[in-house]
Amino acid sequence: MKFEIVTIFPDFFRGPLDYGVVRRARQEAAGLIEIVLHDLREFTTDKHRTVDDRPFGGGEGMVLKPEPLFKCVESLGVAPYSERVAGKSRDTVILLSPQGEMFTQDVAQELAGMERIVMICGRYEGVDERVSEALSDREISIGDYVLSGGELGAAVILDAVTRLIPGALGNEASAQQESFTASNLNRRKATPLAAGETSVPDSTCGSGGLLDYPHYTRPAEFNGMAVPDVLMGGNHDQIRKWRRRKALEKTLRNRPDLLEQQELSAEDRKLVAEIRASKRI
Ligand code: SAM
Repeated sequence: MKFEIVTIFPDFFRGPLDYGVVRRARQEAAGLIEIVLHDLREFTTDKHRTVDDRPFGGGEGMVLKPEPLFKCVESLGVAPYSERVAGKSRDTVILLSPQGEMFTQDVAQELAGMERIVMICGRYEGVDERVSEALSDREISIGDYVLSGGELGAAVILDAVTRLIPGALGNEASAQQESFTASNLNRRKATPLAAGETSVPDSTCGSGGLLDYPHYTRPAEFNGMAVPDVLMGGNHDQIRKWRRRKALEKTLRNRPDLLEQQELSAEDRKLVAEIRASKRI
């Protein structure tokens, strides 16, 4: 997988891409991802290397000009815009923007199937609209807040997508068991369960589309706080049920919207009723 990042601050990425999973995936031995940084100023033609200009119609701030952005992305040899928007290519060009579709684990999963991801980082008041109209095939936001530039968003996307590439994590099962990730036993309502199937993960470690359950490690007691007995007992069925209950509790408390997307089993529905009755949320 090749990531190409278009930015006026290439040095910004020194650091975020040099640690942990992303660093390992980049290393020659792993060779899972390649990251190329493109300095937008290299694609300007004037002596001041100007990338921005005042907005037509007046208003605050400056806007990134279209010419250097088109020149840069076109120089990369990505598939034509028409093929990309028709879904006929495994190249994608993303414009980071607070006005974009929300970046979620599902979007990360979709992007993990690409061959090449080009990310355009905006700055100032934003980017000339023709970039969104005819150069990028999607606009992505990493959250409902405004950052000063797209670089943090590009790093977030790169990290989340990299860990979904087979071989990037030490333990492949980890990516299947995390928050937001529906296991094969826990599908979204759009793909209802077949008769006899249950949405409760059958392993001791699966959050199945909910927020992750709580994790504990040694020491067994810390500052007067003990690890729950059930986790020390070795009864896998009890551990699975406890984790599911905790995942449901946390999801009900912090992200009830996620629960609405899930096809819950009878066991889950009973647990939700118990949690509500116990007023733990
Ligand atoms: N005027 C824009 C608006 O109100 O929607 C905000 C521009 S912002 C200050 C500058 C750049 O930061 C954007 O062009 C975009 O690339 C990036 N950016 C800001 N917030 C973002 C977010 N939530 N997700 C992704 N990119 C973001």
